[in-house]
Amino acid sequence: MVGGALKMASMDDFDLRMSERARPLYEAVTAFIRDEVDPITEEFHRLGDGRADRWSYAPGQLELLQTVKDKAKAQGLWNFFLPNSEASSRFGGGGLSNLDYAYIAVELGKNRLASECLNCSAPDTGNMEVLERVGTPSQKAQWLEPLLRGEIRSAYAMTEPGVMSSDAKQIDTRAVLDGDEWVINGEKYFTSGAGDPRCKVLITMVRSNTTADTYKQHSQILIPLDAPGVEVVGPMLVFGGDEAPHGHMHIRFHEVRVPRSNILWDEGKGFEISQLRLGPGRIHHCMRSIGAAERAIEMAVDRGVTREGFGKKLINLGKNMELLSRARIEVEAMRLMVLRAAKAMDVLGNAEARVWVSAVKAMVPEKCCQIIDQVIQMHGAAGITQWFPLAEMYQSQRTLRLADGPDEVHHMVVARAEVRAREADVAAGRAEHTRARQDAVHQLGGKTGGLFTGP
Ligand SMILES: Cc1cc2nc3c(=O)[nH]c(=O)nc-3n(C[C@H](O)[C@H](O)[C@H](O)COP(=O)(O)OP(=O)(O)OC[C@H]3O[C@@H](n4cnc5c(N)ncnc54)[C@H](O)[C@@H]3O)c2cc1C
Repeated sequence: MVGGALKMASMDDFDLRMSERARPLYEAVTAFIRDEVDPITEEFHRLGDGRADRWSYAPGQLELLQTVKDKAKAQGLWNFFLPNSEASSRFGGGGLSNLDYAYIAVELGKNRLASECLNCSAPDTGNMEVLERVGTPSQKAQWLEPLLRGEIRSAYAMTEPGVMSSDAKQIDTRAVLDGDEWVINGEKYFTSGAGDPRCKVLITMVRSNTTADTYKQHSQILIPLDAPGVEVVGPMLVFGGDEAPHGHMHIRFHEVRVPRSNILWDEGKGFEISQLRLGPGRIHHCMRSIGAAERAIEMAVDRGVTREGFGKKLINLGKNMELLSRARIEVEAMRLMVLRAAKAMDVLGNAEARVWVSAVKAMVPEKCCQIIDQVIQMHGAAGITQWFPLAEMYQSQRTLRLADGPDEVHHMVVARAEVRAREADVAAGRAEHTRARQDAVHQLGGKTGGLFTGP
């Protein structure tokens, strides 16, 4: 099958249509964001401005959010992110396939509050998926159910300041079994969301065995944020801001004790759980990124046709028309890639589709960054101020080039798979066929090669 590193199951993988079931939900989400989320967004942020404690919410903020969350739940616009899950439908919504969710997540990307209003925010989505797939009944009752109801929040603690965390084999927070308890010591940073007062639990990557095979040394453990010995040192500043109350927190574990039963799945399953968790999380980010790029394009047009100088509309100055065209073309190329990756996850499963996920993760934040950067430029100085959301949008895309694995690691995954696919072809004798085909094409196209030899 075509695709090299990017495996396909069959030609049906090119069928990227939204299902009939999802179509009315998509329409309902679009209307819900327009009618319910957009109107409260400014008010939500205004209420929070100047609050006494940055790591809490101001009076009225959570109440405002809750009214919209209640409406979303009542309309069944809730927990879309969990495909094939009976649990998500029990809590007032329904999991969609990754492909259907891709269309909806693009809409969620257009307003930063939208994901939370529909209980589809990172990092909870990835954490809920892990709990749903590998949690024990008691772990589900304690943590998954309140998360699915949107009552608490959670965070994921993997990255450590002391090691190059792109190489997760180096994660070194230690968990040692002492009777019926794990004793945990170590240091994490960039634990996103752990600053939120509603965040109650961390899924934490630890080294629980120093002598097992490399990929069996790590485990993932549930650590309640209020467990004795958990020290939230403070926020890591991102481009100088603390992103309170969400925050990307620096955390130390000092002799933290949790029950033995807090281990997820089993000891030594840390890497297998990462595959489960990071695939959907990464692709959801990319879907929302496309929504952000769409919004930037709309802003470029609005600004470009309403502002004039040097006797022309801004859109007609310099190369702005070409920039606009390139942005639209790139957004559509990205959309197709994201939809194909989502379909690959549905058809092949998260683990088999991981090269697809890496391909979109390597492509989308980088391109969206470029698009938003150009739209900032068209807005002049105002583009980086509070008058437009562009600075925040840029920052968010720029940080995504690092979060969930830097671009380079994802390029490494794709390139490595490409080399392996070619090696497998050669070993299986399929490479001869490719060479013969190239020769045939060459003969057809003459010396210039290819079928399109021009006039
Ligand atoms: C806003 C934000 C939120 C985050 N949220 C979370 C979170 O909630 N939980 C969590 O655990 N972590 C989180 N992270 C951390 C993020 O996942 C890590 O920063 C990332 O995995 C890279 O690890 P590192 O910072 O240790 O960089 P390093 O591993 O030290 O890498 C540094 C640089 O080396 C280069 N590099 C690395 N590997 C390769 C390679 N194979 N080939 C070529 N070049 C390479 C890249 O340029 C990379 O940027 C967040 C980060 C940001 C910025």
